[in-house]
Amino acid sequence: MSGMHLSLDEVWSLGATALLAHGCDEANAAAVATTMTFAERDLAASHGLFRLPGYVAALDSGKVDGTAQPRISHPAPAVVRVDAQRGFAPLGLERGRPHLVDTARSQGVAVMALVHTHHFAALWPEVEALCAEGLVALACPAYTPMVAPAGARQAFFGTNPLAFGYPRADEPPMVFDQASAAMARGEIQIAARDGHEVPEGTGLDAHGNPTTDPAAVLEGVQLPFGGYKGSAIALMVELLAAGLIGDWFSYEAAQHDNHDGGPARGGEFLLAIDPARTGADPSLAHSEAFFAALLDLDGVRLPGDRRHQARLRTPIEGISIPASLYDEIVALGGRRH
Ligand code: NDP
Repeated sequence: MSGMHLSLDEVWSLGATALLAHGCDEANAAAVATTMTFAERDLAASHGLFRLPGYVAALDSGKVDGTAQPRISHPAPAVVRVDAQRGFAPLGLERGRPHLVDTARSQGVAVMALVHTHHFAALWPEVEALCAEGLVALACPAYTPMVAPAGARQAFFGTNPLAFGYPRADEPPMVFDQASAAMARGEIQIAARDGHEVPEGTGLDAHGNPTTDPAAVLEGVQLPFGGYKGSAIALMVELLAAGLIGDWFSYEAAQHDNHDGGPARGGEFLLAIDPARTGADPSLAHSEAFFAALLDLDGVRLPGDRRHQARLRTPIEGISIPASLYDEIVALGGRRH
């Protein structure tokens, strides 16, 4: 597969110009382009420019409003509600974050309910941004059905990711960010595109049989990680990101979606906790000693380390995307480099 080499600035402007060409205003285009650029910077290609055609499809069909201005309210002292007004999630997250941070500092703990939005990205950008403010953070959105609950052979849960972040003293925060599906759908799509098999347990084909063929999984159904345990996490995400905050469960989102290839509507639940208000030692030395003991064990690395290592290199070395994806984005209006 031939690749197109790009600097991170080129990634950003390629994405932003394509979004502007399809009706995004400057603020929405910048927020989405920044989210895709973060993914490319961390070599998380399945949430980088790979997503651009889906974002554009959702703009073109009118499902998503590229000029949406999020509305922020405070229905309770520890609750921030962001109505994204049918916009992509990145601008709602960006505009809601200062309110969530201030509320977590004043109350010790705060919830942000991001509703009426379309989330098509990884979660670590929003969790890391909260950790950068010294907060412990958790985030989860529901998504359109793709995963069979334990015992079932048909899709009902979304791939329902969950991210958790914990700030560190002199290191990047510890952030894990994982789908409750055995494999994120974007990774399966990339495996199908590149002709790789996926591990056993990733999914079932359209007849309900186990398969390692990514194309067959995409036509069939994905499985949760860890059997009924991952299924329970997916269930919790549905309840937090839909039931609790008054947005659509994954199965409802699918009923209302126009299936244009872009992200379905859904909500996102965020929780931020100020460790200064819950008894953590202010220097974080106690948890740093824990991380040191953990990392002393042979074979252990912290979740997020792979991304942070990539982040040291890509601003200098740039990244590569498939030439076919580059051509597709240029054809969609992205500025050629
Ligand atoms: P992975 O299975 O690749 O990784 C999950 C987590 O485990 C990461 O934090 C990763 O850190 C960590 N990890 C991996 N290997 C190790 C190891 N050996 N030791 C310690 N930690 C490790 O992610 P998924 O495929 O489950 O999800 C990929 C992305 O897809 C996520 O960012 C998720 O948010 C996104 N997604 C988004 C959806 C949406 O609706 N918006 C839906 C579903 C998924 P590291 O990155 O450093 O490897």
